[in-house]
Amino acid sequence: MNAGTTCSPTDWLFGISIDGTKALHDHYRADASGSPTYERIRKNIALLQKHGIQPDLLCTVNAETAKNPIRVYENMKSFRTGWIQFIPVVNHTGNGSVSADSVTPEAYGEFLCALFRQWVLKDFGKTNVQMFAELLNVYHGGIAGVCWMSETCGRALIAESDGNIYSCDHFVNEAHLIGNIASMSFAQAVDSDLQRTFGLSKKEALSDTCRACPWLSICHGGCLKDRIRENNENHLCEGLKRFYEYGDPVFRRISELLRQRVRADEIRQIIRKEGLL
Ligand code: SF4
Ligand code: SF4
Repeated sequence: MNAGTTCSPTDWLFGISIDGTKALHDHYRADASGSPTYERIRKNIALLQKHGIQPDLLCTVNAETAKNPIRVYENMKSFRTGWIQFIPVVNHTGNGSVSADSVTPEAYGEFLCALFRQWVLKDFGKTNVQMFAELLNVYHGGIAGVCWMSETCGRALIAESDGNIYSCDHFVNEAHLIGNIASMSFAQAVDSDLQRTFGLSKKEALSDTCRACPWLSICHGGCLKDRIRENNENHLCEGLKRFYEYGDPVFRRISELLRQRVRADEIRQIIRKEGLL
C-alpha cells in the first residue's frame, strides 16, 4: 500500500488458523510458553466479527484430524465465518517419507469424501469450503483461483520478519530466496526469473502419472510441496483421485442445476433424492 492510501478492514483478507476442535487445536498449537491457544483464537474470531470482519478459517488436516471429519467440520462451521479451508499436513522427512502426524493419502481421500457429503447435503449455498467452491467453479467453466489447483503457481510469495521474500510459505529456504523487501518491490519479486521458474515448474515438472491422469485438468498435480515421491509424484495422489471420482457426478449435476437457475436449497434436496451421495 502507498503512503497516504486510506484503508478499511474490508480491504484486507484475514486468515486464522484453527484446527478443528479444541482438543486437536490445543494438542498441535501451543504458544511459545507451551500454553493452549484455542480459547484465545476463539475470542479473536469473535472480536473480528464484532467489528464486521469475517475471517477465513484455516484448518490443517493431519493424521488425527482426518479421523474426525464431521466433528471437525461442524466445529469449524459453528464459528459462522462462511469460509473454511482445509490444508493437508505432509511433513517430508526425506527420501519420500513423511512424519507420523502427516495425513496418509487414503485418510485424506476419505476425509474429503465425508466432508463433501456433509457439505453438499447440509450446507451447499450456505457455507463455503474452499476446495469444493473452487472445484465447482472449474466444473462450471471457470478457472481455479487457488495455486495448488492451478496449472502454474508462484503468485503467493511470503515476506519473513527480516524482510526476506521467498517463493511460497512452504519453501522458505535459501534456494527459494527471491530478495529482500528493502531492495525490491513485491511486483519485482513476483516477476523475477527465479519466481517465474518456480511457478512454471508446477506444469513443466509434472510426473508421467499426472500427465496421463484423467483428473489432470482439475488437479494439475496438486501442490509442489506434496510432490515428494519418486519421479515427482504427489504424496496425496490416491486420496485426491478417490475424492475426484467420488465428487465428479455430483459436481456435474450441481453445475447443471445451477445453469437451470435452481436454488441452493432445492439442489441439496435433488442431490439427496437422486442418491448421488
Ligand atoms: S508450492 Fe503449493 S502452496 Fe506454494 S505456490 Fe505452489 S501450489 Fe501454492
Ligand atoms: S490425481 Fe494424482 S496423478 Fe492425477 S493429477 Fe492429481 S496428483 Fe497427478
